[in-house]
Amino acid sequence: MAIAKGYAAHAASAPLAPFTFQRREPREDDVVIAIRYCGICHSDIHMVDNGWGASVYPLVPGHEIAGVVTAVGAKVTRFKVGDHVGVGCFVDSCTTCAQRDVDREQYMPGLVLTYSGFEPGSSTPTYGGYSDSIVVKEGYVLSIPDNLPLDAAAPLLCAGITLYSPLRHWKAGPGMKVGILGMGGLGHMGVKLAKAMGAEVTVLSQTLSKKEDGLRLGASHYYATSDAETFTRLAGSLDLIICTVSSPIDWNAYLSLLKVDGTFVVVGAPEQPVPVNAFAVIPHRRSLAGSMIGSIKETQEMLDFCGRHGIVADIETIGVAQINDAYKRVLASDVRYRFVIDMATLG
Ligand code: NAP
Ligand code: ZN
Repeated sequence: MAIAKGYAAHAASAPLAPFTFQRREPREDDVVIAIRYCGICHSDIHMVDNGWGASVYPLVPGHEIAGVVTAVGAKVTRFKVGDHVGVGCFVDSCTTCAQRDVDREQYMPGLVLTYSGFEPGSSTPTYGGYSDSIVVKEGYVLSIPDNLPLDAAAPLLCAGITLYSPLRHWKAGPGMKVGILGMGGLGHMGVKLAKAMGAEVTVLSQTLSKKEDGLRLGASHYYATSDAETFTRLAGSLDLIICTVSSPIDWNAYLSLLKVDGTFVVVGAPEQPVPVNAFAVIPHRRSLAGSMIGSIKETQEMLDFCGRHGIVADIETIGVAQINDAYKRVLASDVRYRFVIDMATLG
């Protein structure tokens, strides 16, 4: 077994600290990856804090992994040493389900999360990408197009696919008015992807402080949700809203911005319940929906789409010693627009 270096939380809300652990012995269908960069997703913070109640400690977060293949098992056919690859939010899934429903395996039981899950058939926790290496089954490794820089491509593995999947599912494209609620890591990817798909994009942010960026990234309109006038002006005007907000907010107010048959898709995952008024959806036959990351097939499709359109995240690169400070800045909505950890700083 190979020794890996990383950063872990040892208890709920504990600061992350250096941690040495073992990666599994590579099997014949495994790919060994030297992790170069890993994005900081807000989910990492929810998980470190045990905000959703399912965290396993020690917890090495990180599911926006970009790196280089250093070894492949005898049965691996799609990757070779030196390839640029990514790993997202899950590293295995129920084989039966995956065979039955290869396009939606993230919704099937038996999903093995990249961190805070368990190695299949064992009580060993899975450890994520805030580390220098990872061993992953070939079927869960993604190919990163060569024209995309690894650091800025890393966030595509979660933020990118989490917005790409609902945009595709609800058919974002020319003629569709798409609202992106929250201009953080997920939200800024939503602006870029929806624009590249041909939709007309409106950003709904707490303030106008990031308006210039939103318009530069592809939004046609940018409104402050702290301004009551926004809700009268946009009432009944949007086809699709994707909510990336990590805290509980009044979804009813945003449902009122949808047209007849419009859909409000929840991807942001607050730790507390959010009450919904029946009359926020009844009168205009509106839908309230959710969406979780994307399948491996769809994630590869998204990476190829980003390769063709030259889409990556806007990032701020940090060293491992800055992870705890970066968490504070994410919680304060002070990130433009994704922190990415440079794993070379693990030393
Ligand atoms: P992030 O970078 O922190 O962005 C969240 C944005 O929400 C902030 O930038 C802010 O945007 C807005 N916001 C935060 N607090 C708010 C409040 N109290 N009221 C109104 N708006 C607020 O986080 P992220 O990494 O994009 O993740 C967002 C959420 O999605 C998290 O809950 C995460 O766990 C979840 N997530 C879900 C999936 C999935 O598969 N469904 C995948 C990944 C992440 P403005 O400053 O523009 O207002
Ligand atoms: Zn994530």
